Amino acid sequence: MMHVDLRSDTVTKPTPGMMEAMMNAKVGDDVFGEDETVNELEQKAAAIFGKEAGIFCPSGTMTNQVAIKCFTQPLDELIADQTAHVYRYEGGGIAFNSSVSARLLNGERGIITAEMIAPEINAINDHYPRTSLVVLENTSNRGGGSCYTLEQIKPIAALCKAKGLKLHLDGARIFNALTATGDKSEDYGKYFDGVSVCLSKGLGAPVGSVFLSDKETIRYARRVRKVFGGGMRQAGFLAAAGIYALDHHVERLKIDHAHAQILADALRNCPAVSHVLPVETNLILFDTVEPAAAFLEKLAAHGIKALSTHPHRVRFVLHLDVHPDQVEHVVNILKAM
Ligand SMILES: *Cc1c(COP(=O)(O)O)cnc(C)c1O
Repeated sequence: MMHVDLRSDTVTKPTPGMMEAMMNAKVGDDVFGEDETVNELEQKAAAIFGKEAGIFCPSGTMTNQVAIKCFTQPLDELIADQTAHVYRYEGGGIAFNSSVSARLLNGERGIITAEMIAPEINAINDHYPRTSLVVLENTSNRGGGSCYTLEQIKPIAALCKAKGLKLHLDGARIFNALTATGDKSEDYGKYFDGVSVCLSKGLGAPVGSVFLSDKETIRYARRVRKVFGGGMRQAGFLAAAGIYALDHHVERLKIDHAHAQILADALRNCPAVSHVLPVETNLILFDTVEPAAAFLEKLAAHGIKALSTHPHRVRFVLHLDVHPDQVEHVVNILKAM
């Protein structure tokens, strides 16, 4: 039976080319700053996004949590959409790691605007936590892979600058957003104080994310990462996978997006599906007529794995280990449902 894993773009395994790059990596002790492959990855990623420096971390959760620690003081507050990964899926780390509270907004599929943010910035008053940070997520995970364009980001960046707030991007899937919008990665550095980029999602590396910012912030981030337990030693073997991913797996994201459109079409024509949310990138959210658990059981009987995000909602995620014949298999199964 054919197997198709649509649960997440984190399930990808290194390709032979990536494995070869990993095995041939020149390594050293990165806590001493001596791993040349880690240094190369950090510089390369920073240059791609127009930032001065970067730091390699084991996960996207760590890059976001390090960023929040760098950009806030205890008793501060950050502003984010209510679906934000930093709030929902990082275990309460905003409170635990940084002693910061979160002001959550009701964006449109995870996307918030300067008009929504402005009235939620606290005045200087001893009653209020000090608003110091805004976090955007591009693409938005809970929003179903929805994107900000740079034109939508500019007024938010201008507001943050005027109010003295830092602006951080949770860019776990930023390359999916850039693929969909056509915006240039190097323009991002002008608008964000910090950028998190996952190498282990659609880019297909086994492990790792980078946090990008100015030199001074990254110097402090190295202290924070050490305290969080994220100082790795011969991490160049992992960084080599990240460099390979940046060189070889960005261009191909458009294939995942095309696959998502094919599946979205099939879902819109499937009587067992009541609604398909707009599909902008590699994520598809849709509502099922019967409970999602029953729908998923039927898919599983045909070797197809997916996750539900609500009792009647299912998520499909496309990635580099889903090939055209597997997409066709899913289409055929949906036709028969
Ligand atoms: C996956 C993801 C992260 C980071 O997750 P890790 O599993 O810790 O690498 C951060 N933000 C978003 C939006 C994500 O989807």
